[in-house]
Amino acid sequence: MPIIEIICLANSRKHSGRCIAGLRTDGNGWMRPVSILPEGILQERHYTLTDDSEAQLLDVIRIPFDKPRPQPHHPEDWQIRPDTWELSTRTLTKEHIACLKANLTYGPELLGNAEDRILYPASAHGSITESSLALVQPENLHFHVKARKNGEKQVRVLFELGGADYNLAITDLEWEPRLKSQEIGIYTLDDFGISPFDTPLLTISLSEPLLSEVAGENRCYKLVAALFLAPTGWNPEVEAIEEPPIPEPTPVPAKRAAKRKSEEVIAPSETTEPLIRVAVAGAAGRMGREVVRAVLEAEGMSLALAIDHQNVGADAGELVGCPRANVPIIEDLESALKLIEVDVLVDFTLPDSVFKNLQIALANGVSPVVGTTGLSSEQLERIDALAKEKGIGAFVAPNFAIGAVLMMEFAAQAAKYMPDVEIIELHHEKKLDSPSGTALLTAQKIVEARTQAPTPLPTNTVEKIAGARGATFGDIPVHSVRLQGFVASQEVLFGGLGQTLTIRHDSLDRRSFMPGVVLSVRKVRALEGLVVGLEKLLV
Ligand code: NAD
Repeated sequence: MPIIEIICLANSRKHSGRCIAGLRTDGNGWMRPVSILPEGILQERHYTLTDDSEAQLLDVIRIPFDKPRPQPHHPEDWQIRPDTWELSTRTLTKEHIACLKANLTYGPELLGNAEDRILYPASAHGSITESSLALVQPENLHFHVKARKNGEKQVRVLFELGGADYNLAITDLEWEPRLKSQEIGIYTLDDFGISPFDTPLLTISLSEPLLSEVAGENRCYKLVAALFLAPTGWNPEVEAIEEPPIPEPTPVPAKRAAKRKSEEVIAPSETTEPLIRVAVAGAAGRMGREVVRAVLEAEGMSLALAIDHQNVGADAGELVGCPRANVPIIEDLESALKLIEVDVLVDFTLPDSVFKNLQIALANGVSPVVGTTGLSSEQLERIDALAKEKGIGAFVAPNFAIGAVLMMEFAAQAAKYMPDVEIIELHHEKKLDSPSGTALLTAQKIVEARTQAPTPLPTNTVEKIAGARGATFGDIPVHSVRLQGFVASQEVLFGGLGQTLTIRHDSLDRRSFMPGVVLSVRKVRALEGLVVGLEKLLV
């Protein structure tokens, strides 16, 4: 049952508790004390020290441990015993500083690569990373306070390390709320009254994996778990120079923050970022796979998230026959939206899933583009209201094929002169809802366009098999065919004196829907509230 002394270098928020980590003073590297609570979070009773103060950054603390409890993504985890931690000192010695310097990471790689995350192959045995903690002395450090569309602020730390640019979320206990209290904009340490003679240091820690219980790959994000100033003795030659008085931190004036906002466009990480970040729900389904491919191939879009209950962990790019996209399929849309910025959610899921997905998207300020059919008119009204509440656009199209939209328009035109009509829609055998959304929308357009009543049918007809005449929308019979071989087809049959008119559209391949989906992704953010029907976007 060892008692091990660490220099505390991370003291960050983790759910309702904390995550603390530090370097062992015995020279054996990093250590992260974890409790037996879920994800090892620490509570007040754990990090209250023998002198009744709370553990702080750069404290030297002696912690009673039970045993190492390495996780594949956190090899430095050690399980603590219930005994109180002892504060050794709050003044670092030369040896402590040497220990910190010996453990600095210089980049450009940070915890295994030069990206903001590492992949987590859940099928892998043993450790997936040599280390989940790193101490860095960043160059060109600044902060970006951004607003999500739901009004929540998000704070990012931007810095250079060995020539690589990093842009990471911060969970430091003091800096995260401090930055969130600022107005939107870009800030430097100078804005917080920190002297240029001070050296900022960051502790970077890997997050918990985003859904880890599955085969394939998930992600652990790199987080700024601590931002602190190097202790006295770090830069002896600089410290020998007399420092100018340090001004009190002053709030950034509104005007100045506003100017900075306009500068956001020239921040290096912003200019290189693709324009529209797209999440695809139902990414492993028949339509979803086409959408993933279309997004990966479209100009000005990036695939930010791929959600499905199938093929979880598989790389979305590889799943659809494209090059690796480094976007694993994950299951939980809601928690993913908290971590990853998304502009548009394209939903091709199932009738009983779509409404919940849309509520989650809208609550997070993400504009939905919906292909899934089966939404009721009450649900559509609710989506409209939620989108308006958030001041964002939402779009639903029962049919994304441009030919199908034209079919509906032509049918509405014909209905002015030929009011007698029936609809036959033909889909693949796995389609769950009947009739199709396109059939219903076509019928509605016909009803609205008619200028004459249809010819009444005899009232004494007999249906030898119930349903033989199809279901009806108003007075329009709608017949649903479900057969292998079809993708999505529809015939609108008009009858008149001595003549018939058939308007038919066939989607022969699911790719037929993609130009409409891509167009909608480009346009949805400019809409106000909910818009239904691709024809409204075809100007
Ligand atoms: P599919 O069954 O092949 O795919 C649906 C996928 O959604 C599945 O992989 C399923 O696992 C996944 N899923 C279910 N619930 C989910 C959830 N909560 N979150 C994430 N993923 C979830 O079906 P499909 O043929 O791709 O069709 C999907 C929908 O699109 C259907 O409603 C269909 O009618 C509709 N559709 C619309 C158009 C159009 O132009 N609007 C065209 C074709 C199909």
